[in-house]
Amino acid sequence: MPSDFRQEFPFFENIKLDSTPPTTVYLDSAATSQRINCAMTASENYYRQYNANVHRGAYELAQKATKVYEQARSNIAEFIGSNDSSTLVFTSGATEALNLIANGLTQNMLNGKQIVVCESEHHANLLPWQVLAKRFNLKLTRIPLAENGQFGEEQLQYAKSLITEDVALLAIAHASNALGNIYPVETLCHLAKSANAISVIDGTQAAAHLDINVTNINCDFYVLSGHKMYAGTGVGVLYGRFALLRLLTPSKVGGEMISHASFDNFEAQEPPLKFEAGTPNIAGVLSMTEAASFCRANLKAIQSHENALVNYLYSQLSSFKHMQIYGNEQNSLPIVAFNLLPFHCNDLASYLATEGIAVRAGHHCCMPLMQTLKIEGCVRVSIACYNTFQDVDDFIAALRRFVEYMTVSDKENLSTQTTT
Ligand code: PMP
Repeated sequence: MPSDFRQEFPFFENIKLDSTPPTTVYLDSAATSQRINCAMTASENYYRQYNANVHRGAYELAQKATKVYEQARSNIAEFIGSNDSSTLVFTSGATEALNLIANGLTQNMLNGKQIVVCESEHHANLLPWQVLAKRFNLKLTRIPLAENGQFGEEQLQYAKSLITEDVALLAIAHASNALGNIYPVETLCHLAKSANAISVIDGTQAAAHLDINVTNINCDFYVLSGHKMYAGTGVGVLYGRFALLRLLTPSKVGGEMISHASFDNFEAQEPPLKFEAGTPNIAGVLSMTEAASFCRANLKAIQSHENALVNYLYSQLSSFKHMQIYGNEQNSLPIVAFNLLPFHCNDLASYLATEGIAVRAGHHCCMPLMQTLKIEGCVRVSIACYNTFQDVDDFIAALRRFVEYMTVSDKENLSTQTTT
């Protein structure tokens, strides 16, 4: 069955022509998704029709740019379930948003001596907390996963026992980029609230696949990146409770974020502008609001299509001998991480590349997770709304050829060794 969504992504019209070898099967959307037509049109229209800086000029073009930019803020706030657009800060991506929180927190905002993170966090949601822990002499504690990277009832009970009065901050992904695991963020944020701890949710991978509602999750901060949800690169958002945003120190200062400046001092504006020093990625923001509308309007259809594809992928992969799959099969994004023993994940991904199949191999910016799994890396197949059953079939057929190829070369090596 073809994906009804594929036609919305111009990339697929061009791929066969533009690359050598042609990338015909794109299964690396967790690294970055392809861009949806409406998002690219929104950026282009801005550059072509009303290009001007925001929050500055009195002339009509500048007013229009500002109006559309601020409308995007309201739309994206609504997309993640906030009814207050002043809770939404535009950033260059999730990494900047997480650093903005970590660098802006003051000792007074932290009630406790521990930071709790999950073992599968992306480095973007781990390193800023390492820095914060060193700055305020806090202990970094992990929520461990089961042996092969699963998160289930046992892990949840353990996480609950960790989140006590001693915890100053909890940081966890809504869903893991390496494994796909979806974490019970509502339950965890509820516990964090009871423990008087700040909660930070990294929604980067969730945005294109799940219904996000920061009001229901009841988190203090939530971050995401445009390029993982069919919009442009270099744009993302930080959602924060307004009262906390007011307390957070801006780590980036400069033009447009002040209410008053003198030669030796300044007063910052109220959030969100307090965090948006300099000229923002206006075209990126406009692409993101369009992509968010697409995701929201089609969420059910997207989920059912992706679930069908990932179930099919699982059934195909499990027919391989020596297949080791990591992470949750249920309660997961359409991401599958695996190793096909005894082959190295990089050899496998390089072979697939020669057949025009794009998957990722390595540590997926989750080195501590790889250490827990006792592996150097793994292959990750990540699916998005534009993928098709044909993509999965092509990938599986190439995987079979890889096994054959490696087995034949092993035998040849063996016979060469025995004859010499
Ligand atoms: N968190 C997660 C879970 C991610 O997958 C990524 C990107 N791979 C990031 C954070 C960082 O996002 P960005 O590079 O867009 O800032």
